[in-house]
Amino acid sequence: MRFFDPHIHMVSRTTDDYAAMSRAGVRGVIEPAFWVGQPRTNLGSFIDYFSTLVGWERFRASQFGIAHHCAIGLNSKEANDEGLARAVLEVLPRFAFKEGVVAVGEIGYDEISEAEDRAYRWQLEFARENDMVVMVHSPHRDKKRGILRSLDVAREVGVPMTKLVIDHNNEETVEDTLDAGAWAAFTIYPHTKMGSERMCELVARYGPERIIVDSSADWGISDPLSVPKTAALMLERGIAAADVERVTWGNALEAYAQSGQIDLDALDSTPVVDQTRLFGENSVLRGQQPRVDEPIPN
Ligand SMILES: [Zn+2]
Repeated sequence: MRFFDPHIHMVSRTTDDYAAMSRAGVRGVIEPAFWVGQPRTNLGSFIDYFSTLVGWERFRASQFGIAHHCAIGLNSKEANDEGLARAVLEVLPRFAFKEGVVAVGEIGYDEISEAEDRAYRWQLEFARENDMVVMVHSPHRDKKRGILRSLDVAREVGVPMTKLVIDHNNEETVEDTLDAGAWAAFTIYPHTKMGSERMCELVARYGPERIIVDSSADWGISDPLSVPKTAALMLERGIAAADVERVTWGNALEAYAQSGQIDLDALDSTPVVDQTRLFGENSVLRGQQPRVDEPIPN
């Protein structure tokens, strides 16, 4: 099977992760801009981070046969540093229209503060004006209130629900998100409440429509193989293969391909890797023999 992981922070992961993902059938990913574990103190750090997402990381993924896309946005946590937040929002348009940017994200609420609300609204308006998809992060505490508020504000700003992906849902929020008409994404973390087992039950109960599975793997304890592992468990539990494919491949592609920034034909064909390529002067190799696949004949 092939998979698409629409939420993963690859800058925090290793080349071994890329190799394992590729072996497991992960063909493409979306890396939303997020915080980096400690607050950034100046605009330049954001600029370099966004540049990495559209530049080096995209190249690095390609060296393992994985199509890398990203979402650009100011995360909710750092929206609370209001002076810096204003400066970051000013540079967002410089990155939001680059090749491979499929959404504004991940944005939304963390503590559900006024400052977060201002940054969220600003970015929703930006997305609406530019007809972009939005990836919404939901808070870990007070999740239900955060999601209801995210949906209400998006509706108020006029972002179409077909362009809104609410992430990190659970059993208590899935109906709110689906009833609103938005896409409902679920993050599968190892050794936590929202694991693969519960994901199987959710798909068995609600069906595959508008449901998306992702790993949100980052610098914390997380698993870049969450999507293929969850798919394997779903098949084992008797969920139809076509439904498994929708929640681990088709739905995310349908949602984010609205950006026009996903090459669906390329994703459909076997990846071709050429590790003799360079980004600037740099390669992912450290003296190893480069992998160079034969081009696939048309
Ligand atoms: Zn994330």
